[in-house]
Amino acid sequence: MNRRNFIASAGLGLIAAASPISISALGEPTRPTAKSGCLNLSFFPYELKLRHAFNLARYSRTTTPDVQVQLEYDGVIGYGEASMPPYLGESVESVTKFLSSLDLQQFTDPFRIDDILTYVDNVAPNNRAAKASIDIALHDLLGKLMGQPWYKIWGYNPDKTPNTSFTIGIDTEEVVRQKVEEARPYKVIKVKMGLDKDQETINIINEMMPDVPLCVDVNQGWTSKEHALEMCHWLKDRNCIFVEQPFDKEMIDETAWLRERSPLPIIADEAFQRLPDILRFQGVYDGINIKLMKSTGLYEAHKMVTLAKSLGMKVMIGCMTETSCAVTAAANLSPVVDFADLDGNLLIANDRFDGMTVENGKITLHDIPGLGITPIPGK
Ligand code: MG
Repeated sequence: MNRRNFIASAGLGLIAAASPISISALGEPTRPTAKSGCLNLSFFPYELKLRHAFNLARYSRTTTPDVQVQLEYDGVIGYGEASMPPYLGESVESVTKFLSSLDLQQFTDPFRIDDILTYVDNVAPNNRAAKASIDIALHDLLGKLMGQPWYKIWGYNPDKTPNTSFTIGIDTEEVVRQKVEEARPYKVIKVKMGLDKDQETINIINEMMPDVPLCVDVNQGWTSKEHALEMCHWLKDRNCIFVEQPFDKEMIDETAWLRERSPLPIIADEAFQRLPDILRFQGVYDGINIKLMKSTGLYEAHKMVTLAKSLGMKVMIGCMTETSCAVTAAANLSPVVDFADLDGNLLIANDRFDGMTVENGKITLHDIPGLGITPIPGK
């Protein structure tokens, strides 16, 4: 069954996925009927097509598996999604299995967000992107029911949103030059590092955009702490403002050693997943990169921002390759973070939503209830 038929057969998207539910040979769930006065869940796989091959220190890819989610309550629909870049260990199969195991029809009050998300979190360990998809859809639904966008509900000033960085991957000189041209409207550039072309890439960007601040993401690619320290000093003289995940996530002692000596802040990404990690990372990293697919969504991400800031740590909000649904969800937190890397929707060719926009490099939130997204007709 294709996606259009899937929604049509479920009655305008009001599909329930209560337990028990079976998975067809194609991996698509069968569904009981939607019920009024409770939460009705539906979902379908949606492969994200990347505009350019995405080359990181440890792998390269042209698509990202994704599952799109809807939570319906009395005719109002909240949208969510799970994006599964391979290194996180989730897949369409694991997300579909997790979502199929949920019984959300037991909840008749969608505002019991703590009860609902605690239940979801306790169904099985891990499954962070799958859990995030429910959290994001629930936030969209609740914001719509309240008639307000989440940045307003949290009391954040939308004028304080940061500039978002635009990511340039590891590539040939020709492609790097082409991507720097594409990045011209942005005020911050994020550079992927960790292979032997590191300095070459920085030199090209410095030459083409001499004043733009650079964020460097090593994606665990460096192995020697002496080399890393040398690179941090070299990068400091070339407009770099921080270094993200320099070493393998298990190299805690080496990271603490580097942090003590580095002239640039060291930010945790792959090493950092959930709220309790923040306490472990005091003295190891200067800051954290929060992503909804790691944090299990907005509910915990909001707590992370508060805890990390209270401990004097830097906070960055990032994303995976995602549609504007999850990226806009994260953007609602951006008025209170130090750095934002919310370009995941710009890296895909088949977005399903209009959401936050980037105006002159700055994240721009729109006064639309819920996450602030609108489905694109026909997508
Ligand atoms: Mg990163």
